Amino acid sequence: MAPPEIKASPLAAPVSSLWGVGGERAAQLARLDIHTIEDLLLHRPRRYEDRRHFRAIAELSRDEPGTARGTIVAQGLKRFRGGNKSVFEFVLDDGTARLHCRWWNLPFMEKYFAVGDEVFVFGKLAEAKPRTMDHPETEVIEGGEESFIHINRIAPVYPLTEGLPQRWLRGFIWRTLERFESQIAEPAFGVPPSGGSRVAAPPKGGTPNLPTRANAVRMIHFPEELADVEIARRRLALDEFIALQSAMQLRRKNFEARSRALPCGGNNRLMKPFLAQLGFKLTGAQTNVLREIRADMGGAHPMRRLLQGDVGSGKTVVAACTALMALENGFNAALMAPTEILAEQHFRNFQKWFEPLGVKVELQTGSHRSREQEARSKTRPTNSLLLAPCSLTIGTHALFTAGFDLPKLGLVIIDEQHKFGVAQREQLVRKGNYPHLLVMTATPIPRTLGLTLYGDLDVSVIDEMPGGRGRVKTFIRTAEKLPKVWEFIRGKLAAGRQAYVVYPRVEEQDTANDIKAVTKELENVQRALAPFRVGLLHGRVKSAEKESVMAAFRANQIQALVATALIEVGVDVPNATVMLIENAERFGLAQLHQLRGRIGRGAHESQCILISGAKNEDARQRLKIMEETNDGFKIAEADLKLRGPGELLGRQQSGLPAFRFGNLVDDLDLIRQARELVARNFDRK
Ligand code: ADP
Ligand code: MG
Repeated sequence: MAPPEIKASPLAAPVSSLWGVGGERAAQLARLDIHTIEDLLLHRPRRYEDRRHFRAIAELSRDEPGTARGTIVAQGLKRFRGGNKSVFEFVLDDGTARLHCRWWNLPFMEKYFAVGDEVFVFGKLAEAKPRTMDHPETEVIEGGEESFIHINRIAPVYPLTEGLPQRWLRGFIWRTLERFESQIAEPAFGVPPSGGSRVAAPPKGGTPNLPTRANAVRMIHFPEELADVEIARRRLALDEFIALQSAMQLRRKNFEARSRALPCGGNNRLMKPFLAQLGFKLTGAQTNVLREIRADMGGAHPMRRLLQGDVGSGKTVVAACTALMALENGFNAALMAPTEILAEQHFRNFQKWFEPLGVKVELQTGSHRSREQEARSKTRPTNSLLLAPCSLTIGTHALFTAGFDLPKLGLVIIDEQHKFGVAQREQLVRKGNYPHLLVMTATPIPRTLGLTLYGDLDVSVIDEMPGGRGRVKTFIRTAEKLPKVWEFIRGKLAAGRQAYVVYPRVEEQDTANDIKAVTKELENVQRALAPFRVGLLHGRVKSAEKESVMAAFRANQIQALVATALIEVGVDVPNATVMLIENAERFGLAQLHQLRGRIGRGAHESQCILISGAKNEDARQRLKIMEETNDGFKIAEADLKLRGPGELLGRQQSGLPAFRFGNLVDDLDLIRQARELVARNFDRK
């Protein structure tokens, strides 16, 4: 399929082709990421100044910034400390009062102003007597033909860079807009334009009545009313989401066009005995999800499905059933986990589940390769499961390093997707002959992010917890209360339960400092919990030792585990019912929720104690959400609002596109609309 022909838009021309942009200006604009005419027209104002109404200088306040307009009646530069330090000051008069404006150590400011100049200033008062502002934003008012662009209107105030004057940029954008406005086209999968620039805000839940793109661009720079700004922003955000959804849905369509699905719908030969020996019944949600998965696995295109389910909702069993479908049809399956601990835990589970069924389970991680594999790899360059009966291979991403290719691979399952990142997922998808793909995540992803990050995946949600679980209660305590907390934990250990003690990890990987801290804490915890036995787990513990510590913890030979946030994902020891998290304010809410998911897995009631020294009210409010709810989706939404998408997903690899206008916290309706518009358009083709 040839890509559609795209005519070069005049807006794609470099901004340096415009009159008045020489090398120096072009370099300044480039620093603002403005390279083309389109970039310039989409340069988003930082704020707006209503220059139709001014604040009288007499009414300026210390709490809230305001714009005043006046005439400079005096100015001067004072130097001190032998000329190293300086303060430039002018005095503005608007007839109601005088305002002192000061700039520290910026002596060149003197050049920009002269007594008699009319000036706008924007800022808060630093002192009330005499009225003084420090480093206010200013703009000298000049007469002439173009003054209407800058005064007696709502004026845009742009992000700038050194040497680029606000007034010049505003005039430049105005002129460019005059010339190119008619060339601003609706996007390829655009919204039917509704005409006029003055439109009502879209009704809630209804079809938004948004302006044309050209009108929106004008309104974002030169709105007639402040309310227009949000209308315009929404329109331009919608276009961004449309572009993103188009790319994702196109990728999906192309993928489907060139890939045929392997028949992996299964026949229940293995599934039936598996479910019979499981010891519990699947929840309704698990059964529903499996029905969706089976339809995909038996369908015409390879499955591309995201499975979301809160911690403890039982995703592993769903993964097992999915693997069995592929195995029943004579295909191999692979399961990929983010850490070795998790890979090993899965390995043990699946071995227990699958070997009675005659299915071979293999473990392959960075440090652990089965002896058979070692032997085989000596005789053949690539893995040769060719001759073996169908099997499930479990590993970390090391599983997918070059040279390792599973023959007859029908299914790839990725557990805890957010630890991998989108790029890695893509890499997997390209490998081999398009196996079915099931991506599982326990981070409840707010809908906006889900639709943005996983727009090319179908989504299933397990929205029901298995029954018979004890409740998890969460408490916030200050460090002074620690002695009492240790006493409480000792009581629980004496009653036969086990505990986690978690220290924050600042980086994605444990650093030497984190390890020093956690190792030192081990002694304290040992003392606090004596005579119970305490183990240690962090990112630098050798694999073999890690395995033996986990085995000892699982067997209750160790009663408490001191760990970094390494245990965050997936670890499953139902007898562990207490979790103490130190410096809890340093974690994101989503991460705390993941950690807390390690307890509450058995029939006993569980307790999560968050220790926080935070005096900071925001941090306290944030932690309070943990006390109030166990609902992962609510927590993720709150985390998204408080910390933004990058932090929620992890700094390293959020894989999020940058939006100029789109807002992943608030624009769910637009993201949905974009998705539907694009889908409808694809269907028409
Ligand atoms: P997660 O979704 O966090 O990966 P797991 O798959 O680890 O959750 O499941 C958590 C625990 O719940 C496991 O011990 C698992 O055996 C158990 N479990 C899963 N499904 C059910 C069910 N339908 N009924 C009872 N227990 C279940
Ligand atoms: Mg899991």
